[in-house]
Amino acid sequence: MQIVDAVKNAQQKLVKSDSARLDAEVLLCSVLKCERTHLYTYPEQSLSSKEIRSFDELVALRAQGHPIAHLIQKKEFWSLELKVTTDTLIPRPETEILVQAALNCIPNETPCSILELGTGTGAISIAIASDRQLANITATDIKHSALQVAQLNAESHHLNNITFVKANWFDIKNIDTYDLIVSNPPYISNDDPHLVQGDVRFEPESALVSGKEGLDDLHIIITGAKKHLNTNGWLLLEHGFQQGKAIRQLLEENNFSTISTLKDYSNLDRVSIGQWLS
Ligand code: GLN
Repeated sequence: MQIVDAVKNAQQKLVKSDSARLDAEVLLCSVLKCERTHLYTYPEQSLSSKEIRSFDELVALRAQGHPIAHLIQKKEFWSLELKVTTDTLIPRPETEILVQAALNCIPNETPCSILELGTGTGAISIAIASDRQLANITATDIKHSALQVAQLNAESHHLNNITFVKANWFDIKNIDTYDLIVSNPPYISNDDPHLVQGDVRFEPESALVSGKEGLDDLHIIITGAKKHLNTNGWLLLEHGFQQGKAIRQLLEENNFSTISTLKDYSNLDRVSIGQWLS
């Protein structure tokens, strides 16, 4: 079978995906270890029976709904390729807004200490570390398996200014105070209908769900952060699109200043920020 036919067949099997053609191409590239342009330059290239078998397996899993990032075991974030497994949340484009907001709080050539809570693939810390060489970052996760992925990702980008620590939120051995605390915690309500749709069905519930309102972990982080921020330090949080008001209120109740909320690419509340002045 030739590349052109393999892609066409797969596209038909993936009709339920709204990106069937792209999915087929990306999966075939992962089998052939090539760029997408290769598929268009050499459409008549024949596939070996082993390549066909591997491709068919991936297409069948995709047809069942498995996320592309899990099938090809990687995802691009902040122009960095990251390894992804079923132990971690798949990095989302909107989380780049959180990274940009954090970078805006960190002067370029000044040392600065950062704590990331719930790092997953390491995406946020790795993106910050790659733009701020003088940042000294501690990144935590409650799951050992996630920390292993994050560590590998940091190594593959040659970053040695991130220390990975297994911890449940602020329950960190030898915890310090920081200039900036950042987190994309679980924030989905446990009865949210989205949990049975799309990619999230295959992602760890522990990285997604946080109580009845989705606010349990955000509450722990906001109340805990003030004890661990240096004067003028920043707290930056990703949250659900309907949680902006609740988060701003929590920040206010906990005596944070300079409170603001940033919108995501769909113009919905997504990231809130507060500063610890005292
Ligand atoms: N943004 C993710 C989603 O809705 C959720 C991430 C999270 O809970 N931190 O798919």
